[in-house]
Amino acid sequence: MMRITVWFHAICPLTDWEALGVTGWNWSIIQDAVKASEAWSPPSDYAMKHHADNNAEEHGRNGYVKTTAYSYYFDLALPFFKTLNEMGVATNMSESSGDLIGIWTYTASIDPVTGSRSYSTNAYYDHVADRPNIVVLTGAHVTRVLLDDNMNGPKRAQGVEYSVGGQVYSAGALREVIISAGALQTPQVLELSGIGNPDIMRRLNIPVKVDLPGVGENLQDHFTVRMGAELRGIHETVDDLSLDTFAEEKLKQYKQSKSGMLSSTLSTLVFLPAQAFIGPDVMKTMLDSLDKALRDTTMQNSPWRQVYEVQRSWLEKNGVAQLEMILFPSYQHASCTTENARHYTLSVFLQHAWCRGHVHAVSPSALDPPEIDLGTLRSPGDIGKYHYMIMLVEAIKYAFKVMQTGPLGEETAKIIEPLPTWSDSELREYVRTNVISAFHPIGTASMLPRSQNGVVDNNLKVYGTSNLRVADASIFPIHLGTHPQATLYGLAHRAVDIIKQKASL
Ligand SMILES: Cc1cc2nc3c(=O)[nH]c(=O)nc-3n(C[C@H](O)[C@H](O)[C@H](O)COP(=O)(O)OP(=O)(O)OC[C@H]3O[C@@H](n4cnc5c(N)ncnc54)[C@H](O)[C@@H]3O)c2cc1C
Repeated sequence: MMRITVWFHAICPLTDWEALGVTGWNWSIIQDAVKASEAWSPPSDYAMKHHADNNAEEHGRNGYVKTTAYSYYFDLALPFFKTLNEMGVATNMSESSGDLIGIWTYTASIDPVTGSRSYSTNAYYDHVADRPNIVVLTGAHVTRVLLDDNMNGPKRAQGVEYSVGGQVYSAGALREVIISAGALQTPQVLELSGIGNPDIMRRLNIPVKVDLPGVGENLQDHFTVRMGAELRGIHETVDDLSLDTFAEEKLKQYKQSKSGMLSSTLSTLVFLPAQAFIGPDVMKTMLDSLDKALRDTTMQNSPWRQVYEVQRSWLEKNGVAQLEMILFPSYQHASCTTENARHYTLSVFLQHAWCRGHVHAVSPSALDPPEIDLGTLRSPGDIGKYHYMIMLVEAIKYAFKVMQTGPLGEETAKIIEPLPTWSDSELREYVRTNVISAFHPIGTASMLPRSQNGVVDNNLKVYGTSNLRVADASIFPIHLGTHPQATLYGLAHRAVDIIKQKASL
C-alpha cells in the first residue's frame, strides 16, 4: 500500500516564529518556497466529490514534487465528513491556504501519471544525477565534521569524515558543509564534531570546539493514541488485504492501472483548536495551572521560556489546531475481536504537546545509535506531564462522540478500545500505555537566538562556525502543527536561496 504522503503546511505557527527572534522565515516566504517545490495537478471530479482541494492559486505548478488528490477513497470517508459536519465542524476545501481548521481531504505527494510516490530522489536527484559536480555516496555514514582549531573566531568546516564498509575516509569542502541527517541524527553528528553541550562531549572524550548547550535538546513530536471500532454493514477496508485473493486482486489492479486501494491511503483529516474539544471548565483549570507553572522561577529562567509562551498563546487562538484526528479504515492497534469483521481506527494526535525530549550521542562512535528520549510524559517543571494528559484524555472523549454520531455512528457496530464507559483514570492509564510517536520529530538544532539555546542562526548557520549549516527538521524551533514534509521541501528551497545569495557576494 502507498506510504502516507500527506502534503500541507500551517500558517499560524510559522507567523509566530518572529516572536521567537527568528527573522526572514514568515508565512509568505515559506509559502513561496513550498510552492517553488511543488508541481500540483488538479483533482479529478471523483476526488472533488470527496472534497479534495482545488485551490490552484495556493499550489505551486512548476516545481519538482508532484502532488495531487488520490484516485481512490475508502467508503468511510464521506460518512466521516457528514458526522463531523453534524458536530459543527466545517468542511475545509482550501487547506493549502495554510488554514487547517475543519475536516478536509488532503493533497498527496503522488505523481498522477505514474500513481506512485513523488519524493526527493525521483523529484530532484534523478534530474541532475548525470551532472559531473554531483556525487551521491550511498551506504556512507558521516562520522563527524572536520573543524579547524581557530581560537580567534568562528570554526571553519574543512570537510567531513565518513565510514563505508568499515573504512574511514574524508571529503574536503571548499565552501560549505550542510548537515541534513534529520532531527534524530543531526545532533549526534554535531556532538561527535565537538559542537554541543560541553558536559556531554567531555563524558565521551570528544574535544569541545563550540559550546552550544541546545544541541540535541528541545525534541518535540506529535503524540498519538489510537481508538478501534468494529463496523456494521458491508465495507471495503484495509482489513480485507489479509485475504490472499483480495490482496492479489488489488495488487494486480495497482500494477496494471496504478489505481484502486493500493494507490491510496487514509485521505481525510480533521484539525481542531483547543476550544472545539476541551470544555470551558476543563480549559480554565488547565490554563490556570499552566500559567502558574509558566510563572515558576525555573521556567522564568529557562532559555526556552519564549517558546513555551508562544505555545501557551496558541491555546486560546481559534486558528491554531491543537488536535488532529485521522480515520484509518482498518483495525490498527490490537488483534481483531471478531474474525472477518471490518474495522476502523480513529487516531487522535496532539499538535503542540507540552513535553520535550532529547537526543544525544552515547559513544564517540557515529555507528552507535544516539539515545532518543521523546520525553513523552515530561518537560521542565512537569508542564508536559499534566497538560499533555488532560489534552489527550479530552481528545479521546471528543473522538467517542465522533464514533457515536451521525452516519459514522450508524456504521459503528461497537467501540472496541478504549471504551466510552471508562473513567478518566482508566483513560489516563490507556494513554500512558498506548501513546506513541507520530514520527514527526523536530527541534533538536533549533533556529533561535544563541541566548535561547539556539543552534543555528536565521541563515541556518551553526553558531560559532563560519561555513557549517543544518537544513532538516531539527531546525524548527516549535512544532509546525502539520505533517512536516511540505514545509521541509520549502526549507530546502529557502536554504538554496540563502546559500546562493552568499556565494554570489
Ligand atoms: C512511516 C513514516 C511516514 C511518514 N509520513 C509522512 C507524511 O505522509 N507526510 C509528512 O509530511 N511527513 C511524513 N513523515 C515525516 C517525514 O518523513 C519527516 O518529517 C521527514 O522525512 C524529515 O526530513 P529530514 O530531512 O529532517 O530527515 P530525514 O528524512 O530523516 O533524512 C535524514 C537522512 O539522513 C540520513 N543520515 C542520518 N545520519 C546520517 C549520517 N551520520 N551519515 C549519513 N547519512 C545520515 C538518514 O539515513 C536519512 O536518509 C513520515 C515519517 C515516517 C517515519
